[in-house]
Amino acid sequence: MICAESVATICAPAKRAEVAAGRARMARELLADCRLCAHDCGVNRLAGETGLCHAGAEARFFSAQIEVSDELELIPSFAVALSGCDMRCDFCITGASSWNARAGAGFSAVEMAAQAQAALRAGAKTIMVLGGEPTIHLPAALELVAQLPATAKLIWKTNAHGAASARELLEGMFDVWLADFKFGNDECAQRLARTPDYVGVVQENLLWAEAHGELIVRHLLMPGHVDCCWRPVAHWLAENLPGVKVNLRSGFWPAWHAARHRELAGTVPAAESARAFELAQELGLNLSS
Ligand code: SF4
Repeated sequence: MICAESVATICAPAKRAEVAAGRARMARELLADCRLCAHDCGVNRLAGETGLCHAGAEARFFSAQIEVSDELELIPSFAVALSGCDMRCDFCITGASSWNARAGAGFSAVEMAAQAQAALRAGAKTIMVLGGEPTIHLPAALELVAQLPATAKLIWKTNAHGAASARELLEGMFDVWLADFKFGNDECAQRLARTPDYVGVVQENLLWAEAHGELIVRHLLMPGHVDCCWRPVAHWLAENLPGVKVNLRSGFWPAWHAARHRELAGTVPAAESARAFELAQELGLNLSS
């Protein structure tokens, strides 16, 4: 068993920092044979090798600020965006930094925690760790948790493509998992994000997250992808995670390399958006905003 301190639910706040410090050390050891995400590269990041995410052993960040564009129950949130990602979504709204693990500035958990605490004093309700994808920087994320006040509400914003080894170390560390379910089939995931075997990995992570804390699932509607992506995602959520909060987002913008794909050249037509929301209502999904 990887974590002697493993807990079934969210750690008692006073204990969380202490457990996080120990798990951060374990996570750093895992970089010697990195399999933190489902790409399962097996490279030694401590020795300078890099896998598909191109991340080294030390995390960098490209944004740390109070944000108000996330779910209403989570904002205002002090959001820390770590550089680099294990997926390659051509439509990524922060592609330049999210694809580049060398973007931004070096990350210090102590300094970031000081900024986060200042944000809390200024009125932020939550602290959100995101990317890129934070799973690829699990040691740094846990080092940050180890520095944060016991009462802080912590959000893990993820692409839900992590491996079981990462999930074990995350258990009890974050109050809310804000997780993407982007594609309803493996072909779209491979073509638009160069990610194989996507659907099964995400479903496994979402089931785990719901069983271990609070989960909010996000799906970004993409033009031309209501039937191939949203429909299977919606049906799976209705059948397997009934009642889970779902944020169906219709604000697609053709950012980054979206122009590589003809159907992603524009925004979501109003009729498609309406059809997507009708489906959510028919299936009884618990839509949140
Ligand atoms: S985090 Fe994922 S993509 Fe990056 S090296 Fe580890 S297994 Fe590979």
